[in-house]
Amino acid sequence: MSVVTLEYADNVAIITVDNPPVNVLSSAVRQGLQSALATIASDDKVEAAVLVCAGRTFIAGADIKEFSMANVPGPSLPELIPEIEASPVPIVAAMHGTALGGGFEVAMACQYRIALASAQVGLPEVKLGIIPGAGGTQLLPRLIGLEAATGMILNCNRLKAPKALELGAVDKVVEDNLQDEAVAFARTLIGKAHTATSAHTVDGGADAQAFLEKTRQMLAKKMRGFLAPQAALKAVEASMTSTLADGMKFERECFMECKNSPQSTALQHMFFAERMAKNIPDLPRDLAERQVESVGIIGAGTMGGGIAMSFASAGIEVTILDMSEEALDRGLATVKTNYDRTAKRGILTPEQVEQCLGRISGTLDYDDLADCELIIEVAVEKMDIKEIIFKKLDETVKAGAILASNTSYLDINHLASVTKRPEDVLGLHFFSPANIMKLLEIVRGSKTAPDVMSTVLSLAKRIGKIGVVSGVCHGFIGNRMLSCYGREANLAVMEGASPSQVDKALYDFGMAMGPLSVSDMAGLDIGYFNRKALPEESYEKTAYGWVNRLVEMDRKGIKTGAGIYRYEAGSR
Ligand code: NAD
Repeated sequence: MSVVTLEYADNVAIITVDNPPVNVLSSAVRQGLQSALATIASDDKVEAAVLVCAGRTFIAGADIKEFSMANVPGPSLPELIPEIEASPVPIVAAMHGTALGGGFEVAMACQYRIALASAQVGLPEVKLGIIPGAGGTQLLPRLIGLEAATGMILNCNRLKAPKALELGAVDKVVEDNLQDEAVAFARTLIGKAHTATSAHTVDGGADAQAFLEKTRQMLAKKMRGFLAPQAALKAVEASMTSTLADGMKFERECFMECKNSPQSTALQHMFFAERMAKNIPDLPRDLAERQVESVGIIGAGTMGGGIAMSFASAGIEVTILDMSEEALDRGLATVKTNYDRTAKRGILTPEQVEQCLGRISGTLDYDDLADCELIIEVAVEKMDIKEIIFKKLDETVKAGAILASNTSYLDINHLASVTKRPEDVLGLHFFSPANIMKLLEIVRGSKTAPDVMSTVLSLAKRIGKIGVVSGVCHGFIGNRMLSCYGREANLAVMEGASPSQVDKALYDFGMAMGPLSVSDMAGLDIGYFNRKALPEESYEKTAYGWVNRLVEMDRKGIKTGAGIYRYEAGSR
């Protein structure tokens, strides 16, 4: 069966794309659309057309499989878009599900758009290291204006149909009967003059040049080193002064520059890796999950506070335990300072900060953790201390609670074995700063129960993290990768480079922070304890010799006011 079919409701042609599962714009779909356009254009009886999709969504995007194929037959999407645009009869794109990337570009090239209220539109390309490459940067500003289009393309956010209607990206939103509504809408257009999207002028707002300059500065700061956002902005800017044809030519040049860069390969790899990480092959999908509405955290230090914020911000009650009133007060004060900072930056309102802080309480007594549904141990990186904590938890905490450790390196199976409930034990390894970093390693012990795994995978999502399952091994995944990088950076200092030279080289390469600044932020003692256990002649011990000396001088990083760098006011 053809993936694109044509039928008629009197003088309205109905073009249907049916390319399961999500109607991607494969070569066959593009060829089918081109031939449908030709048929409609040559048929005098057709006075309007509707473009609709079968199945669960409108065209969801390009066919990613074709990206790496040579000599794909049929028109490319940039060739097809002007043909849709130039249709002699008005075409109404009827959208349901998600019209993303090339799918949204096709809809924008149509003369009108109607959508189900539940539909979403978006241009996610920048996230993949490329830019919309088939007119997206030229058509969207013509529909919704410079500022809204720039925001949508740079942030890759999807618009829900009602918002798209408000901005002008769609012309009508309906609750139901999409195809019938689209045909009825198309009938109202017959005999009237219609304006192709290319004929719209771009609304540049109050001061287009000032807006563009501000956005360029924002990108230079927040997206330093990323090609795609800069390229997208240049292409959007061109839409203000170019014809659609010229603008699309320029857009194509910018697109190819991004596509041929290693950045887009890396970002696409990351996108697919994140999707794949969600599938745990041996974990049944329909497991009943455990309830987690209250979390206990042991250790109010660098990580404990950030982890507490992650849960409190997601509406979950948190009780933090530490050994002394002083440690607890210090930890809770840091949490408050960090929340106040988010309010200052406008990320949370002062009321939201109050609510979050209201969900966090401190204690020195294990009995206060007895009813928690998840306990995360975040005390120092020493096995003997963690053993004592897990034994204590085993005695005090209610049956069915999940017991986790935030250990960076230690053996989760061993920790599980000191309890009588190894099936409830696993690693939850957050990264610093824990309230911000998205990665959460979920360390699956040999006896961890499947429902514990599925519960924490859902929980990761709920607190805005990307959960990645790891087996039990030294350093799990992230720290094993980081260890080679860190070792060489430290060795460079042993060989005569200054810490700031090392950090600058890697910052200039594109890292958000230099590795030695990161060590100071994480705390130099974390790796110190880990290295202690290594044989005297190990390469690690040589590379980190100077850092070990700093730790022994009680220079543990930001938390002690000095580490590799000094942190007293004004000294850095
Ligand atoms: P930290 O030294 O900043 O804080 C540890 C806290 O635990 C302190 O407040 C201390 O008083 C408390 N504590 C110590 N022993 C305790 C006990 N027996 N009972 C209750 N509280 C106790 O350490 P941190 O950097 O937050 O690291 C904590 C854990 O998280 C370690 O296992 C570490 O490996 C892991 N981790 C750290 C990082 C990082 O970047 N710092 C990242 C991932 C994981």
